[in-house]
Amino acid sequence: MNFYRGLNSKEVESSRAIHGSNILSPPKKNPWYKLLLDKFKEPLIVVLIIAAAISLLASTLSAEESYLESLGIIAAIFLATFVSFINEYKAEKEFDILNKVKDQALVKVIRAESVGEGKVVQIKKSEVVVGDYVILSAGDQIPADGTVLEATELKVDESSLNGESKPSSKFAEKVSEYASAFSPNKLYRDTTISEGECIYIVEAVGDATEIGKTARHATEITGVQTPLSKQLSKLGYKIGKAGMLISGMTFLILLIIELANGTIGLQFTADNLTHILRLLIFTITLIVMAVPEGLPMSISLSLAYSMRRMTRQNALVRKMHACETMGEVTVICTDKTGTLTLNKMSVVYSSRVIDDTIANGMAINSTAFLDGEHIIGNPTEGALLNYLKEKGYSYRQLRKEAVIEAKIPFSSQRKYMATISMIGGKRYLFMKGAPEIVIRSCAITEEDKKSELETLNKNWEKGMRCLAFAFKELDSSSDLGTIEEQEWAAMLQNLNYCGFVAIQDPIREDVADAVQKCASAGIDIKIVSGDTSKTAIEIARQCGIWGNSDTLELNSITGEEFAALNEEEAMEAAKRIKVMSRARPTDKMRLVMLLQKSGEIVAVTGDGTNDAPALNYANVGVAMGSGTSVAKESSDIIVLNDSFSTIVTAIEWGRSIYHNIQRFIYFQLTVNVAALLTALAGPLILNEEFPLTITQILWINLIMDTLAALALASEPSDSEVMRERPRSSRDFIVTKRMMKGILLYGTLMFAAGLFFLKYEDILHPSSGMSTLYLTIFFTFFVMMQLWNLFNVRVFGTSKSILKGLGQNKTFIAIALIILLLQIVIVNFGGALFRTIPLSPLVWLMIAVVSFVLIVPTEALLRLRKRQRNRSL
Ligand code: ATP
Repeated sequence: MNFYRGLNSKEVESSRAIHGSNILSPPKKNPWYKLLLDKFKEPLIVVLIIAAAISLLASTLSAEESYLESLGIIAAIFLATFVSFINEYKAEKEFDILNKVKDQALVKVIRAESVGEGKVVQIKKSEVVVGDYVILSAGDQIPADGTVLEATELKVDESSLNGESKPSSKFAEKVSEYASAFSPNKLYRDTTISEGECIYIVEAVGDATEIGKTARHATEITGVQTPLSKQLSKLGYKIGKAGMLISGMTFLILLIIELANGTIGLQFTADNLTHILRLLIFTITLIVMAVPEGLPMSISLSLAYSMRRMTRQNALVRKMHACETMGEVTVICTDKTGTLTLNKMSVVYSSRVIDDTIANGMAINSTAFLDGEHIIGNPTEGALLNYLKEKGYSYRQLRKEAVIEAKIPFSSQRKYMATISMIGGKRYLFMKGAPEIVIRSCAITEEDKKSELETLNKNWEKGMRCLAFAFKELDSSSDLGTIEEQEWAAMLQNLNYCGFVAIQDPIREDVADAVQKCASAGIDIKIVSGDTSKTAIEIARQCGIWGNSDTLELNSITGEEFAALNEEEAMEAAKRIKVMSRARPTDKMRLVMLLQKSGEIVAVTGDGTNDAPALNYANVGVAMGSGTSVAKESSDIIVLNDSFSTIVTAIEWGRSIYHNIQRFIYFQLTVNVAALLTALAGPLILNEEFPLTITQILWINLIMDTLAALALASEPSDSEVMRERPRSSRDFIVTKRMMKGILLYGTLMFAAGLFFLKYEDILHPSSGMSTLYLTIFFTFFVMMQLWNLFNVRVFGTSKSILKGLGQNKTFIAIALIILLLQIVIVNFGGALFRTIPLSPLVWLMIAVVSFVLIVPTEALLRLRKRQRNRSL
């Protein structure tokens, strides 16, 4: 690497002042009023508008000329559109936040220190300015446009810019005949390095970059359809259809009754027409109530809310479907380093005394840097640099004295790296990597090999990651030129063996707990590690994944052994193993494919570029926050703190979201059944018009569709879900238990309401139903829904209705709003709602009777159920 001073803080500021920040202007969003206007285009709102028109017509025709009903419907239209607009607007804002977090990738740049020497530091992608020297390696995303200054084996995937799927090679030289925009010495923002490494200088940032000019952006999270929302649209459609059928039947029944009792005559008069129109509006209102238009909204609200909370807990969701799929996961294939361990590596043992040659190997044959104690780049290599420092060597000094001529970068597939470098006029080849691979390249006696392996085994058994070193002096008289693959293979033979170091990486504290949770949640964990089986098994044992009864033969396999198995054997092994060691990305990919074939829902973690295929293929690809951009781009969720326990938290959320949506459906269907039963059977039994008015029905509809969705969507995740077995993606979202509850409570509410009315009917048979009793009935109906909302919040858990209530402020607020509005409607609704004020005593009675009916019933049912089955 040549010497670069880099910009100092003043120069950075002035560059930013001249060329701007490296931020792409966000795409133009629809203004809020457009969103609001869009709401008026929704089919149900259109239906309501038609109802309002008919109502106006009916009022004009009728002798009484009362426009109150039309007014009520118009108010309902505005309320419904407004609340659902607020909900959507809220969800969109949440997605905005997530899109912002996505742009916070870290970039390695050289910046000047006060003394003037260039120093490698990590900054946010958005902080890169024109004139910055940026260091990139395989998997990195290019932060801004610029020109390559130095490159080794550099290949760049520019598909995001030009759609070309094959990576293009890039060089440091100016190649004049390619003076086009995509010349081979230029790098462009948001393309990715697929191989090699480079240093380049930034020449354009933000909107001035190619991608900024074409105004194309990385995929933004929006409220796209997920499998669950598709399933729910279908369900909503079915419920809507059933609702329409029942409403139609109600219309006929009411028509027949009115014809029979002479309210409507057969002549074509304005009066008769008004009556029929009124029945029609009534039917339309019933349909509006029966159609669960809040269903899709409840999902996007749930998802948006959960995604924000998940981000706060370090799980950044990139693809919406991942939220739900996470809840179905049955197997997690996890990395070891960084995910189960802290990725705080330190050398704790060296089999040889570190001399100048080994020190050169560690310093030069490396891609990492130190910023004080802080490691920038590969943590394994960083541990070596820290170890050098401990031994009194300065890696910067060693690098300054060396001229690097060729490199084979480290890859998980190869498991070694090599560098050819001139030092003091002599040419050296340095190799470091997995000990068994390095030893294979060395001239070493069988005896030495045996004793070395013995020491290695001891370290591996302690869970250490071991790294061996070797070197060779090469002929320095001729020019090296480009080295072909065969030449490398020939050169990497008969090396001088320099011993190995053992690197310790402590287990994360919270992992054992998370592993335990997975076990009780019926989720299998498989470690896929590049380390040896001894190291990986020891780590598995410390985490609680590897039990006393597990054996090396049955429960572990090496990547190579796995690759040698035929399809059937491999499938069998895939199910059985807990640890795959010395795994290469291809082995990981095969494991994921086989597990999926056998019906598992697989979450896979990955950090390297090579993990991209497995991440893409998995049901949920989980990239590590510290991983490469390529891995992140292929993932569905990014775990910002790299920790395994975050993955488990995400699963908990995934399961909770599903339950929250189930609860919403449960609540909504219960009201639907109760209201439709009343609509259908009410007139028959009471020989009266429907006991609820159109405005009352619209209010109930608002409670169950919009307000309930809001209240239930903000219920936080619940650790209790981790005691259930994983659900199957084929499961129907409405379970048998829910069906039973819906029918039970729907009928109960209907029967209780009817009893009320019938009782009044018996008491005052001649006068028909009084407004007082109808007001009581209406309030009673709403209060039952309100209590049921409390029940539903904890449905399917063993919690009491008060448990955790304090944490869900939105829920409490909404329950209070419903109660308050009901009080306002009853007291001031007047002719609009057909209500008259009730005395406090009556209010109390209604509250108590509805409470007694709804809450203790559920408590009793749950008490019976408790021991048997916890799932919904
Ligand atoms: P894990 O599954 O534990 O996260 P990994 O898949 O990251 O591990 P690799 O990075 O593939 O594992 O490393 C596998 C082996 O390669 C290590 O055991 C080590 O011996 C060797 N190795 C790791 N990093 C380097 C490096 N930078 N240079 C040379 N060899 C390395």
